[in-house]
Amino acid sequence: MKLYNSLTRTKDEFKTHTPGRAEMYTCGPTVYHYAHIGNLRSYIMEDVLEKYLRWSGYEVNRVMNITDVGHLTSDGDTGDDKMLKGAKREHKTVMEIAKFYTDAFFADCEKLNIRKPKTIVPATSYIGEFIKVISSLIEKGYAYEAGGNIYFDTSKLEKYYVFNDFSEEDLAVGVREGVEADGNKRNKTDFVLWFTKSKFEDQELKWESPWGIGYPGWHIECSCISMKNNGEYLDLHCGGIDNAFPHHTNEIAQSEAYLGHEWCRQWFHVHHLNTEGGKMSKSKGEFLTVSLLEQKGYDPLAYRFFCLQSHYRKGLMFSWENLDNAAAAYSKLIDRISRLKQEGSGEDEKCAALRQNFKEAMDNDLNTSLAITALYDVLKSDIPEGDKLGLIADFDSVLSLGLIDRAKKLSSAKPNDEEIPAEIAELIEERKAARKERNFALADEIRDKISALGYIVEETREGTKIRRA
Ligand code: AMP
Ligand code: ZN
Repeated sequence: MKLYNSLTRTKDEFKTHTPGRAEMYTCGPTVYHYAHIGNLRSYIMEDVLEKYLRWSGYEVNRVMNITDVGHLTSDGDTGDDKMLKGAKREHKTVMEIAKFYTDAFFADCEKLNIRKPKTIVPATSYIGEFIKVISSLIEKGYAYEAGGNIYFDTSKLEKYYVFNDFSEEDLAVGVREGVEADGNKRNKTDFVLWFTKSKFEDQELKWESPWGIGYPGWHIECSCISMKNNGEYLDLHCGGIDNAFPHHTNEIAQSEAYLGHEWCRQWFHVHHLNTEGGKMSKSKGEFLTVSLLEQKGYDPLAYRFFCLQSHYRKGLMFSWENLDNAAAAYSKLIDRISRLKQEGSGEDEKCAALRQNFKEAMDNDLNTSLAITALYDVLKSDIPEGDKLGLIADFDSVLSLGLIDRAKKLSSAKPNDEEIPAEIAELIEERKAARKERNFALADEIRDKISALGYIVEETREGTKIRRA
């Protein structure tokens, strides 16, 4: 499989340190608010990647952190503590906020068919581990104490700017931007490993450390959680593209300084979901959540379909119109699948070629949009319908669009066309037209007529259903 690697800036053949086993790490959510659907785009694409690796025969050890301490509103070391901000907003404790939004995150993931990683570690449960690694970095001369805080000394590295997508100049600007000069830092790119002399007097969560009572910086958590659970050699590190700098750059710096060797070979970055106003973010007014999509009548899996229709390495423009188009295509797809009969089978060359199409699409830098085309090719082909269902189920073990499940539900709710008398079919059409014109009184009247004739009309996620009373 070829996968674009942000480190080398090329599509590299995916290789693991241990054949057949992939050590995978994903930056998890900062649990101070609901995840927006932009965050979830990243998790959907990472989920597809994990599932495709499994489909290809890898055993995957996937680890994810939950950021419940240390992440400031700027990805540098400035701004407010995001968790504290959330707690103040809702008049709750930081741990209450963390628990509530962690649960909310996994509930959203479930609705989007995102598999829960095998290992999930809240940062607050790993304080001892952070202290161990930070102590070792100080011992090795990579970290220093200044003004009570512990900093990583970026000048000790041969190379700090590892993601070449950025020029040193761009990065330097990025670092300076919005940063109140921290006089403690020896170099402007140095970053905090442990805060003690925090400007947050009211910081709720603090722990004892050899350097005084305080709390960890954000970057150290991912390094430590990964090194502990994935081992010294990580095969694949994932996150949204905004995490590449400074977060991932700092993760590499401290992990390699600690380990004394290369840490992770392959970096997978998902590009942003944008709105007309730019990148979707929690700090902006517009804040789209999975619950909001549901309230508006969208199936969360239609959003997943929308994401898979484009490549993860391209910015994706969100608009209601774009989502409507995806939702319509998704319903149509389910409808087509629901008409397939479990008839005929016998893997033959044609099936193998159709599966190969899917594999080639995914092997080419996880091209999910071509993989969906491969799925339509199955529907269009002349193989037996039973085989079509088999292939669709197989592809969907990776895409996770709930295709078979949704199609089954749809066909069980749908009587055979020939069972609906013409009179009823006509009334259904009239009712549809009334609803379209938002004439709900008329629509209800027609529904009553239909029910008087012995049929029940139901509105479901998949559309209007009709069945015998
Ligand atoms: P956070 O909860 O802020 O730590 O972010 C969780 C994940 O979502 C990270 O991997 C981010 O890089 C990613 N992310 C943030 N904003 C967006 C966006 N607009 N589109 C896609 N991914 C995003
Ligand atoms: Zn991280």
